[in-house]
Amino acid sequence: MFMTGFFENVQKQITEIASYLEDDYADKKAFQKIVSKLKTPENFIAKKLTIKMDNGKKKTFLAFRSQHNSVLGPYKGGIRFHPGVCEDEVKALSALMSLKCSLAGLPYGGGKGGIKVDPKVLSEEELKKLSQTYASTFAPYFGEKKDVPAPDVNTNEQIMAWMLEAYEKKIGKSSPATFTGKPIVLGGSLGRTAATGRGGVYVLVEYALAQKLNPQKTTIAIQGFGNVGFWFAKLASEEGFKIVAVSDSSGALVDKKGLEIEKIASLKEKLGSFKEVSQKEKIDFISNEKLLILDTDVLVPAALEKVIDKGNASQIKAKVIVEMANGPTTVEAESILEKKGIDILPDVLANAGGVTVSYFEWLQNLKKEKWSEEKVNKELKKILTSAFKKIDQIKREKKVSYRLAANLLAVKRIIDATIKK
Ligand code: NAD
Repeated sequence: MFMTGFFENVQKQITEIASYLEDDYADKKAFQKIVSKLKTPENFIAKKLTIKMDNGKKKTFLAFRSQHNSVLGPYKGGIRFHPGVCEDEVKALSALMSLKCSLAGLPYGGGKGGIKVDPKVLSEEELKKLSQTYASTFAPYFGEKKDVPAPDVNTNEQIMAWMLEAYEKKIGKSSPATFTGKPIVLGGSLGRTAATGRGGVYVLVEYALAQKLNPQKTTIAIQGFGNVGFWFAKLASEEGFKIVAVSDSSGALVDKKGLEIEKIASLKEKLGSFKEVSQKEKIDFISNEKLLILDTDVLVPAALEKVIDKGNASQIKAKVIVEMANGPTTVEAESILEKKGIDILPDVLANAGGVTVSYFEWLQNLKKEKWSEEKVNKELKKILTSAFKKIDQIKREKKVSYRLAANLLAVKRIIDATIKK
């Protein structure tokens, strides 16, 4: 997915963040020691997993878990199944999870795992075997107070259920809190499905309040209409924002008067793609490239990484970008956007709703509680609203971007906790 060099990039970011924080610490030597520790995962595990395929032959897959930092609590982070999974990517993503959890004030460190595999070519039986072999092989490193995995790209609640079963068998006791993103019947949390999109809308609402934007007069274009894009679109339109464009991989539907999200979702379900929907319903249709440079107030990349790059950044007209996808803006694009005065609400904040509700799931499992969806949403709103306000204040005080402000807050918390321990 990401090119190699991703972890090196994260290490460079940590160096940059540290240069802003250094003056806050009297003991420079201790400070530098902590910063250099943040540039390497505390623990990195690579294993070869061998399973028997449906044709009777054995096949071996490379699998990883990176445990980046545990100062704030157990490692937390998803398990990804993708042909592009590699040591570099897993390490980088685990470091970003440390920042995301710290930023939201969750009692977690950062972790990430993955298997280098294209799950689409596996049968269901093979997928189950591979998932369960991963969970039992990595079981000594997991635990409800040690390392708590979750779904990521190409993994879902079914895979978490299979992994939990294999993990519990291996350790010989029940431990539902060790995996989050589980089906509701196995201890999953209400509100998890919508959580990432909902969290992004809470962040946008706070931004609108801070900038004195009137939602009714604020137009939004959204790239991607999967879990995150759909929920963001639905909940933002319920808040009064005008969604004028949404896309899937076939292209984007556009209506300057505002799209009816529920109606579009059911048409997409029936017809398969937005291209079909546009033809049937006579709605204007443009390419994904054009969607990114539409004249709207807000642009929401909610599909893939690196879609905003140096090739299109100078043509972007939106006043604010809400990064719902992970890593949708390249470093080169960001400096162009900054010069144009476009705000970026960074992924570590905008899409932190998912991990936050994973935290609620973990809490419910540990305390043997069942929260209502209303309570989940209320607590989610509290956490993300407070994170936005703190970042907005740092941004204004230090005259830095939202991303740098978020990173400063996240890294400072980890450093302060390390010093106190
Ligand atoms: P998804 O698979 O449900 O949806 C992806 C959407 O992107 C689909 O609508 C698909 O049609 C669209 N898409 C695919 N290729 C495209 C292209 N070339 N151009 C435009 N659209 C394209 O995935 P998701 O769970 O909604 O995740 C979307 C992004 O959000 C990812 O970057 C993911 O890492 C990030 N994210 C998701 C969560 C979560 O809880 N699901 C949490 C944090 C971050």
